Amino acid sequence: NGHAVVLQEIDPSKLKITRTPTPSTLPSTTSLPFGIHHSDHMLILSYDPQAGGWSAPEIKPYANISLDPMSSCFQYATSCFEGMKAYLSPTSQPLLFRPEMNMARLASSVSRLSLPSFDTSALLELIKKLVKTEEKWIPRDEQGKALTGYSLYVRPTMLGTKSSLGVGASDKAILYVICSPSGPFFPPVLPSEGKVPGYIKPVKLLAVSEHVRAWPGGTGAHKLALNYSPGFLTQKEAERKGYDQILWLRREGREEVVMEVGAMNFFVALKRDDGDIDIITPPLDGTILPGVTRASILQLIQSDPTLFSSSFSSTTSTSTTTTNPAPKLYAHETPLTMSQLDTWHSQHKILEIFGVGTAAIVAPVGAVSYSSSSLSSPSSSSSPGKEETMDPADVQGVGQAHAANVVEIA
Ligand code: PMP
Repeated sequence: NGHAVVLQEIDPSKLKITRTPTPSTLPSTTSLPFGIHHSDHMLILSYDPQAGGWSAPEIKPYANISLDPMSSCFQYATSCFEGMKAYLSPTSQPLLFRPEMNMARLASSVSRLSLPSFDTSALLELIKKLVKTEEKWIPRDEQGKALTGYSLYVRPTMLGTKSSLGVGASDKAILYVICSPSGPFFPPVLPSEGKVPGYIKPVKLLAVSEHVRAWPGGTGAHKLALNYSPGFLTQKEAERKGYDQILWLRREGREEVVMEVGAMNFFVALKRDDGDIDIITPPLDGTILPGVTRASILQLIQSDPTLFSSSFSSTTSTSTTTTNPAPKLYAHETPLTMSQLDTWHSQHKILEIFGVGTAAIVAPVGAVSYSSSSLSSPSSSSSPGKEETMDPADVQGVGQAHAANVVEIA
């Protein structure tokens, strides 16, 4: 009748909190594999244009969700998500790492699936309330202090819930956020295995181009559920052959373009002729997920070229010069091909290959197998005790990076 209907945006002031009558306790930190446990509560809200837009948000006991079997998310994979972490500050306050970047990425995933849009700052305000409610689920030591490698993983999820088998956009949705207390993504190596404390076992990659994760014009730059499930078969095959992760490639003419490492962004560190170091990652060309960790590493290198120098100094310094200045790092977003990596490898220029992401933070790569040839990181050569490609100082460096970018939520 000509009247515009104003649909309700997410309104944090309408939040209703219902606490569980049966709170549980955080499992022992020795049994916190990534993404297995959940905390007591979840945040949930729904969008329905017929009901006036976004519902009043609720934090309520973690529970099953009941949906019509016809729901768009079951039939047409209208499902997207985010992955972020809550840490403890030195004074044991909960912190989130650059959460506004996850909110912006969720908004872009939602838009790519043509799901109903939402106010990102309103959702972030609610996530802070949830994390505050679930504060005790952030793992800590006996003194109540932060534990390196442990955090509360926060998983915002949005699903299309239109009940129709018609192939088309869902104008209804649910948005929920759950929390999972988690230990290190790659379990730490035990002292009995003869490594230094903080040692991270390098991952072995299988480079694959028969299955493709993402392609120009596709959805690789968004965090859509449908980007992940087709890789499960590939990942299982790789594990069966003794590899940890897939190095995703894409054929382009006669080249094989390097995209990502499993669900991590790919980085290579190269020795330059002047003694400095190039840190290279593929550009955000639509096939690469714009990782928060990736962006943070690039920004940190640009803001302080020597911040991570100590991680590389042992590999670059020569025995003849004892007064080498710390090498400078130069960050580049440049397309990488397997033949390029092969060339650098044969020229002994590769100092490190590593994957980065919220879950694993920084995962050193020990070896890459590819068709018939196999690249191995220089530091994973046969000499025992020299196997790690990244020393614990690096991981600390990234921990500091996190500390510089956290958002206080108390
Ligand atoms: N690539 C893919 C495919 C991913 O799923 C993730 C995890 N979100 C990343 C890279 C790393 O992104 P972030 O640093 O934001 O976790």
